[in-house]
Amino acid sequence: MLTPGRSGSPGRVGHGREHAMELRRSALVTGGSRGIGRAVAVRLAQDGYDIGFCSRSADEAALETARLVTSAGARAHHVVCDVTDADAVRTFVAEAEEKLGPAYAVVNSAGVLRDRPMALMAARDWQDVVGTSLDGAFHVCRAVVRGLLTRRAGALVNVSSVIGVYGNAGQTNYAAAKGGLNGLTRALAKEVAPYGVRVNAVAPGFIETEMLDGMTAKAREAALGKIAMARFGSAESVAALVAFLVSDAADYITGQVVQIDGGIAL
Ligand code: NDP
Repeated sequence: MLTPGRSGSPGRVGHGREHAMELRRSALVTGGSRGIGRAVAVRLAQDGYDIGFCSRSADEAALETARLVTSAGARAHHVVCDVTDADAVRTFVAEAEEKLGPAYAVVNSAGVLRDRPMALMAARDWQDVVGTSLDGAFHVCRAVVRGLLTRRAGALVNVSSVIGVYGNAGQTNYAAAKGGLNGLTRALAKEVAPYGVRVNAVAPGFIETEMLDGMTAKAREAALGKIAMARFGSAESVAALVAFLVSDAADYITGQVVQIDGGIAL
């Protein structure tokens, strides 16, 4: 078990790769089989964390994440888990912690899109999106929080979106889910701060992952026109921000929604 030097600042696993391996901590990542979740899993493995991760499928993508994590010298444990299912999440957390030890870093990255104008939105489109990004994060936070408070150490990061801050036509479900996630982040941060546990969110703009596969060339062009840096971001850039936020270098940062969007909101 980790023994913090002082509440909330164990000071053992650092932000930089040079600190890796001083002491292994473990991290849990939802949606770790692809995209941003995979990049986070690999980056945290490079930073010295063992990685428990989940996705709904035990597919090639999940195997590839496990391979990349172990190549970085960390242990990997994948659990098939749909984060919309509270019992499945409890099992994911219990199984990963049994294999890898108590979690220090917890990253909620699982998310889906079901874009529709409100007039055409089916209840299922709403529930899939809110159930994954918001209910899913709730299930994970609830499953881990008691342990983090007891150990008086830990850092959670919720992967939100700039859409949760500004909204977007055709994405009321996604905006509600991510806006809710930002609220959860701030409220939980206040709740757990006295116990040395930090909670933050990252709010990416357009990031090159399979989530954007459905975008037409016209939509991509329109999106690029709104980004000051005139390019989409990489999952690795988001992972670097997440790694910073869970690291001891960020030990006075909590309750923040940090945008990483190439200047889309300027
Ligand atoms: P991807 O589609 O590339 O990956 C999504 C991951 O989540 C996969 O591992 C998928 O695996 C998993 N997943 C989806 N639903 C569930 C579920 N119910 N339970 C468990 N795992 C699930 O998406 P990104 O990496 O692009 O997105 C990651 C996060 O970043 C999301 O929350 C998204 O909203 C957010 N984001 C992404 C942006 C982008 O431009 N890409 C921009 C802003 C925010 P499986 O299908 O096997 O379950």
